[in-house]
Amino acid sequence: MKWKGRRSSTNVIDSRGRKVASTAGVGVLLNMVGRRFGIKGILILIVIGAVAWKLGLVDPGMLLGGSSQTQTGPVQASPEEEERFAFVKVVLADTEDIFGSEFARHNQPYQAPQLEIYRGQIRTACGAGMAQMGPFYCPGDQKVYIDLSFYDQLERSFQAPGDFAQAYVIAHEVGHHIQTLLGTSQKVHARRGQPDFNEWSVRLELQADYYAGIWAHNNSHYLDRGDIEEAMRAANAIGDDAIQGRTQGKIVPHTFTHGTSEQRMRWFNKGLKSGRIEDGDTFSIPYDAL
Ligand SMILES: [Zn+2]
Repeated sequence: MKWKGRRSSTNVIDSRGRKVASTAGVGVLLNMVGRRFGIKGILILIVIGAVAWKLGLVDPGMLLGGSSQTQTGPVQASPEEEERFAFVKVVLADTEDIFGSEFARHNQPYQAPQLEIYRGQIRTACGAGMAQMGPFYCPGDQKVYIDLSFYDQLERSFQAPGDFAQAYVIAHEVGHHIQTLLGTSQKVHARRGQPDFNEWSVRLELQADYYAGIWAHNNSHYLDRGDIEEAMRAANAIGDDAIQGRTQGKIVPHTFTHGTSEQRMRWFNKGLKSGRIEDGDTFSIPYDAL
């Protein structure tokens, strides 16, 4: 997929620097210095550390390993991660343009979601988010959340590598945002607790795949060979994103409510062919004909 040089979204929030301080780093540092400069190096380091402590530059808890704290600091990231970060910004900008014009065609304003990039865990309006959940959308704060390490998981565990698959994942979550703007998500979540709630959930997920297909439809001139197959593999592999239980305000992973791989691919393809929001009604068809 060709993405370099394209517009970047300004709606991406970088929360990767917000983390719980770890003391493991001190040991690693001592080991490193010891190997390189011997015992002399370690002694010098300890003196520097002691002075810094005395001057109040370092939290003793951090050195002793007794306490942890929330820190916002500079982000250490590999060039590979920085490239993913830049990529995510372009994909989000792309969804803004595509759904902005789709909404304009229906004379409706499009309120773009924000996308927050974090590491490990994050506090959201829908409760605590964790990297293991995969990317998710929270209707409460209208944000998409992603830990970029998910993309490693996508490559290794799900055998769905490739930038188009990575973009598809975001497009699917933005699809949940579209459903929130249109009130569809709210209608489905209102049925929570009813016997047919799972069916409604599947319809909702398949529609988000359809909306991801709309995004792909508008990207056809940027595609490389094999890109659609990449997205298909991702759709096939990911059954595990999380959405909010509106009443409890919790994030509930729902592996079993995404529909079959075949259904997901079918609806993604429908979106890809049509490119129009109004052709993605997954709710008025009989359930077994989805
Ligand atoms: Zn979903």
